Amino acid sequence: MSQAVVVDSHEDLASSHFQLGRDLLLDIGQLRAVDKYSGTAGTPTVCFPEFIKGNVRVVFATLWVSPHGYKEEDDPVSYRNAEEAHAQAMDQLNYYRSLEKSGHIRIIENQAQLEDQLESDSPKVGAVILMEGADPIRTPKETAEWFKAGVRIVGPAWRQTRYSGGTFAPGPLTPDGQKLMEELEATEMILDTSHMAEQSFYDAMKLFHGRVIASHSNCRIYTPTDRQLTDDMIKALLSRNAVIGTVLYNTFLDPNWEKNGKIKAQVTLATAIKHMSHIAELAGDWKHNGIGSDFDGGFGLEGIPAELNTVADLQKFGPALMQAGYSESDANGVLGENWIRLLREALP
Ligand SMILES: [Zn+2]
Repeated sequence: MSQAVVVDSHEDLASSHFQLGRDLLLDIGQLRAVDKYSGTAGTPTVCFPEFIKGNVRVVFATLWVSPHGYKEEDDPVSYRNAEEAHAQAMDQLNYYRSLEKSGHIRIIENQAQLEDQLESDSPKVGAVILMEGADPIRTPKETAEWFKAGVRIVGPAWRQTRYSGGTFAPGPLTPDGQKLMEELEATEMILDTSHMAEQSFYDAMKLFHGRVIASHSNCRIYTPTDRQLTDDMIKALLSRNAVIGTVLYNTFLDPNWEKNGKIKAQVTLATAIKHMSHIAELAGDWKHNGIGSDFDGGFGLEGIPAELNTVADLQKFGPALMQAGYSESDANGVLGENWIRLLREALP
């Protein structure tokens, strides 16, 4: 039986390469054997051979650069101003371009390239470039240049940015953030609302009329922090025909799973499916769910649902959803088809 098509709507591949020095072309055994950051960032679960093994055909690959002062330890790869953010994000974009040149990925900028990627039997990962935290956009007007360079999705926030309140940083869109919304809409960029503070989120919903998504966000009803979506935010996204990618980070799935290094509750695929079902209930269907694993987001094997070992195991959501009583077509929607539908509608 051929494997279902999987889309993973959030992977910080470039930052994993630059900040953790991980060579994602290695197979998972080699990568784990040589990895220097497993102690702090967790055992690696992502590499290109595992994407291929799990038929992960499309990944939203981020440009994520770290604001200086966020990490306590000396962090040489972080930015202090827009110029530095811009330069570091450009390095990350060039990393993806070099992987494209060497034949390891296919950067997807338009519908034709998406269809090519889905039809092709050559084992390559398709990458839609997502900027997470918009500080690298030096002025709102520069949005068009990033679009030309291949970026198709922009999330204005991470923590606070020059444009938007973010996680642990409540607040509205700044005046530049309001202008950014106009530019994102004019360039037909997709807006990623993950990490946006509530006030910024609602500002953006009013000002931006293009396609919106949440690439990696869970339900606040189960995980009550400002990083996750309230029911009202989920409804606002659904009213715009968004897709929401469930993050497979245990702390975001069950905030009580661990305390002082001791595991209190096992997190499983069922825990993630609980978040997905909540969104499906609010939507009245399973057309708005996806997976935004964020497996390269600073946690590793130790922090993901028990049944999963690498990104190839995202396939396991298919049988798990069907076992939970959902249809095969709903399961395929979650695995990848919902994101593919959105990309078909939103890409130029
Ligand atoms: Zn994130």
